[in-house]
Amino acid sequence: MTVSVDHFATVAELARALGPDTRVLAGGTLVMRDVNYGQAGAARLAYTTDPALTEIRAEAGRIVLGAGVTMAAVSARPELSFLAPVARQIGGPAVRSMATVGGNLFAPHPYGDFATALLARDGVAEMADGAARPLADLLARRAARPGFVRAVSLARPQTGEFRFRKVSRVKPKGVSVMSMAAWLPGAAGRITGARVAYGAMAEPPVRVAPVERALEGAALAAAAIARATAAATEGLNPPDDALASGWYRRETAPVHLRRLLEERAG
Ligand SMILES: Cc1cc2nc3c(=O)[nH]c(=O)nc-3n(C[C@H](O)[C@H](O)[C@H](O)COP(=O)(O)OP(=O)(O)OC[C@H]3O[C@@H](n4cnc5c(N)ncnc54)[C@H](O)[C@@H]3O)c2cc1C
Repeated sequence: MTVSVDHFATVAELARALGPDTRVLAGGTLVMRDVNYGQAGAARLAYTTDPALTEIRAEAGRIVLGAGVTMAAVSARPELSFLAPVARQIGGPAVRSMATVGGNLFAPHPYGDFATALLARDGVAEMADGAARPLADLLARRAARPGFVRAVSLARPQTGEFRFRKVSRVKPKGVSVMSMAAWLPGAAGRITGARVAYGAMAEPPVRVAPVERALEGAALAAAAIARATAAATEGLNPPDDALASGWYRRETAPVHLRRLLEERAG
């Protein structure tokens, strides 16, 4: 099938052009593979070079990441140092120089490590029409292509509140068997507002409410960690794929969650 590629000067113009037969092209690390395999799922790809898409802004305790910001750019910015360990574990250097924040939100299982981290940071998607959508809501409905994401905003963590763990068979740049992110405000004392998210344990990345409840109001010590690991896979039915079976993911998730919670905060 012939696929046309159209450029739009602004986000607004691109958003107006989207429809069932038009797919967003960002860094193209997944879209172009689909095109090469005849699986683009659309007759037209649409992209924009609007500079707003690559902006990184810090405002009132929050950080706003343009959807076109690449993993390489995240790794290079001092104010994003808490996200750099996540970005650096996505593919190799060539992938990271193209792979975008926006594309990661729509990257199918088992991809989505960065989306998992943003989900645990209570990220909010800024849509092209100005609407704000919590990432949990956007990710749950992403198969329906809910429109163009302009940026993602997230609260800036205090030192030591955020941690991320990626489990892969091939190091350093293998695809995730699972990824886990936790935002533990008050981890030095009592945790309030715990957020824990998993990637590759469900399609799409998900918040893990039973684990969050087990940690809420507790000190990050042996008793709370034991309660959290006991709830590690409650309500989840992890998928089988070429990397791991759902059984393997279910059996090993508590071990990795415990390691995530016990590790020194970074
Ligand atoms: C060799 C290799 C290794 C990889 N390793 C990893 C890994 O370790 N971890 C990981 O998470 N991913 C990995 N990926 C997947 C991918 O590179 C990343 O998920 C990347 O962030 C996708 O971004 P992109 O800009 O390339 O998206 P694209 O390929 O351009 O687009 C991906 C999807 O998102 C949609 N989209 C893109 N931007 C927007 C937007 N702003 N609004 C609405 N829809 C949008 C597209 O229409 C498409 O459906 C890997 C890919 C390859 C090829």
